[in-house]
Amino acid sequence: MAIVGIDLGTTNSLVSVWQEDSCTLIPNNLGEYLTPSVVGVDENGEILVGRTAKERLISHPDRTAASFKRFMGTEEEFFLGGRRFSASDLSSFVLKQLKEDAEAFLKEPVEEAVISVPAYFNDLQRNATKIAGELAGFRVERIVNEPSAAALAYRFGKMEEDQTFLVFDFGGGTLDISIVDAFDNVVEITAVAGDNHLGGDDINKAIAEKFLSVSGLDFGMLTKEEWAALLKASEKLKMELSKSSQAEMETVISGRLYGMQMDSRGLLEASTQIMESIGMPLTRALSDGGYEWKDIDDIILVGGSSKMPLVQNYLQFLSGKKPLSRIDPDVAVAVGVGMYAGIKERMAVVKDMMLTDICPFTLGIEVSQEDREAPSVMSPIIERNSVLPVSRAARYFTANPFQQFCTVVILQGEHRIAKQNLCLGRLEVPVPMGKTEQDREAIDVRYTYDMNGILEIDVTVVSTQEKTSKVIVNPSIRLSEEEIQKRREELQKLKIHPRDQEKNRLLLARGDRVFEENTGDVRKYTGRFMGEFTAALNTQDARKIEKAYIRTNELLNIIENSPKRSVILRLDKYLYDEWRKDS
Ligand code: ADP
Ligand code: MG
Repeated sequence: MAIVGIDLGTTNSLVSVWQEDSCTLIPNNLGEYLTPSVVGVDENGEILVGRTAKERLISHPDRTAASFKRFMGTEEEFFLGGRRFSASDLSSFVLKQLKEDAEAFLKEPVEEAVISVPAYFNDLQRNATKIAGELAGFRVERIVNEPSAAALAYRFGKMEEDQTFLVFDFGGGTLDISIVDAFDNVVEITAVAGDNHLGGDDINKAIAEKFLSVSGLDFGMLTKEEWAALLKASEKLKMELSKSSQAEMETVISGRLYGMQMDSRGLLEASTQIMESIGMPLTRALSDGGYEWKDIDDIILVGGSSKMPLVQNYLQFLSGKKPLSRIDPDVAVAVGVGMYAGIKERMAVVKDMMLTDICPFTLGIEVSQEDREAPSVMSPIIERNSVLPVSRAARYFTANPFQQFCTVVILQGEHRIAKQNLCLGRLEVPVPMGKTEQDREAIDVRYTYDMNGILEIDVTVVSTQEKTSKVIVNPSIRLSEEEIQKRREELQKLKIHPRDQEKNRLLLARGDRVFEENTGDVRKYTGRFMGEFTAALNTQDARKIEKAYIRTNELLNIIENSPKRSVILRLDKYLYDEWRKDS
């Protein structure tokens, strides 16, 4: 019985099988190799997967979900047509569809699969992927790393050579860069870096924005459907520009037809910022792994967006090497996963190793906000992508002068709101009680995280120098059923009044995203003024809310629209001007 290989992507998924010494891609019922990773529930309660579901994303947003891979291993829930699904549930529908396609193609039952995941996936996310496979009716033979699979696809037939690859995987919403050392039957990932919010979708958006500006239109004039149609036309134009040097697009807005021509140069202009953002993680991967460009034998192109000549030229400019695209970047991972499956069948083994020399997530602590009604927030101590081993400390203060204990809640994740992150544990620290209303105790919290995934927490009460410690082995632990249930209930209680206003909700969501995307001072700033905005919402005073809205929106605009190196400067200037106006 055949074992299939599955590339379960954020945007698209593929299935392949090893047949007679080569890897065959399996088409879906539409005859296509790429199945969009989109799931919907139709009016009769039936599950839709792939292109059909994708078409309904705009028309039936409350019945359709996409990009759920981002939430694998979290408690994020998706409500479709009144039913509740986890990211694993939704992924299982995609996997089930691929299973059926494979069975139709092979004309036999298919029960075993090898599934690939991004190199930076932690145990929790890998486990959630395995569960998705099992829910789809597979026995999941193995979970392999996407960059290892791509490297294996390129190594076929010359396994004896030692090679160092840089795998450049540029998909719909993420950029993943991995450096892979391959020798004999070992594929070892020695460095990973990337950007969780950079991909083809951003290029579509940049083109759409260019379109609006040359057409003299404003984003606010468009309906949701018109914006979606414009994005679609932009994506089409982008893909045409991967084949020819000039292309056209058009779309109807408010009953009028607008058009735009674009050439390669125009595309470069529209996406300059995106190209610039590619440079940083590249440098990071190289320096983290202790490499220079001359140490890299080949660059492997993976993911739909790496098919853009613009991207390829830029990579060649940076590295001085011509990137490989002998295997279509759309299918490179799927081909490799199919090979892993085939190798398994022939009883040979390829060792897929992952060297975790970076901390792929942020570790922090829960702190309450000044406004007690506002939800607690995450204060980062070790930021994601810190090189391991790492040890950092931060000082915090008690909230109440008469408290005798201070609870340190240890969090992992990228969300501004504490509850939205993974809670790894708690530490009760005795503190001396204050004498007056003003007394506050300072505590120093130190996190130390090493290669073995061991997190040590040391808390020192500054006034007494008394130390309390805790060790957490492998922070990617699983939440117990009980904890999940409890959190579910907590979250259900969280529905409050003026937040329901879409505009404010959107701003909250945007603030959360900006917080996630940034680190360091920009993140701190964002945390602070988003906290102030939440506090304004809690006053339920429409005038205060509106004022806070305008300010927060402006601050977010500054962060998103300024060149990275001048963001802090511009934020400071805005706050200074505001302060001058007020005083
Ligand atoms: P993922 O790994 O996230 O599932 P994919 O590797 O399938 O994503 O990449 C999807 C992205 O690739 C989309 O944004 C799509 O617009 C883009 N893409 C696909 N083909 C091309 C092309 N020929 N030129 C430019 N972009 C492309
Ligand atoms: Mg992919």
